[in-house]
Amino acid sequence: MAVVVFGSLNLDLVTQTPRLPVAGETIRGDNFFTSSGGKGANQAVAAARLGASTKMVGRVGGDRFGEQLLNGLRDSGVDAAGVRVDEKTYSGVAVVSVDRSGENAIVIVPGANGEVDESDVQRLKALLTDAKVLLLQLEIPTPAVEAAAKAAQEAGVTVILDPAPASDFSESLYEYVDILTPNEIEASQLLGVSVNDPETALQAASAFRRRGVKRAIVTLGARGVAYATAEEAAFVPAFAVEVVDTTAAGDAFNGALAAAIDRRLSWLDALRWAMTAGALSATTVGAQPSMPDLAMVEEALRGVEDID
Ligand code: ADP
Repeated sequence: MAVVVFGSLNLDLVTQTPRLPVAGETIRGDNFFTSSGGKGANQAVAAARLGASTKMVGRVGGDRFGEQLLNGLRDSGVDAAGVRVDEKTYSGVAVVSVDRSGENAIVIVPGANGEVDESDVQRLKALLTDAKVLLLQLEIPTPAVEAAAKAAQEAGVTVILDPAPASDFSESLYEYVDILTPNEIEASQLLGVSVNDPETALQAASAFRRRGVKRAIVTLGARGVAYATAEEAAFVPAFAVEVVDTTAAGDAFNGALAAAIDRRLSWLDALRWAMTAGALSATTVGAQPSMPDLAMVEEALRGVEDID
């Protein structure tokens, strides 16, 4: 089967500076680089690295950045034929400044991501026939996300929704979601309560089930995850790793969860895969370059089983 990801592609334009400029100021930076990002593309790369046949649907602009984003996906083994090059607009970018203390300031301009609409959902539908999982986030317009989730449900495809950014969530999405994967901040925003420890995360996971999702996983970074299914609600502590950069840990988690479900792993094994991928991604710098491959995840899990 396959994992289909419907979501955003951004090029990150990163400047490293001694300090962040104030309004009206021009300062000299130390370094500049570009890297491929966007939650959709990051999650697609994460799933593909773990061996899942992965197809991406979305839009880039008719510019050099769009070509770079498509090449990056293909280099990571993602089938990018479902990504439309929209000549009428520019590719999504994240303009990032990071100072020497690690403080950052980020402007995201959605560009082509913001133009995704029903015509893209039609392209997506053709790919659902041999898909096992549809993986969604909220960096493309919510009506398109909802139409995609509905189509997947009708096709019997498992729908995973990472509700980020949570400000773009719509309550009407709940009924189409098989697995909702908010982090603690997103869970707090969606439910309007404070979610900040295992106990409140467990309550949140159960609250999401009452709202109509089949399973909910609330991720708590280095602490682990709380989940609720029809059978049980439980907390699973994270694997201890030496943290270097937690950027895109959630993307590694979601991509790996989709790949695990595509492989028909049991619920707990799928969760362990996703948690291992999230933890491993935090041990190296960057978003897409930090996504672990199958050998790394299997090796890490063998280590855990040996301790058991
Ligand atoms: P997000 O990036 O969306 O905020 P999290 O930081 O909660 O997502 O990470 C998702 C999952 O990845 C966590 O639930 C955990 O299993 C794993 N993970 C993330 N950061 C770490 C870490 N520092 N140590 C161990 N596991 C981690």
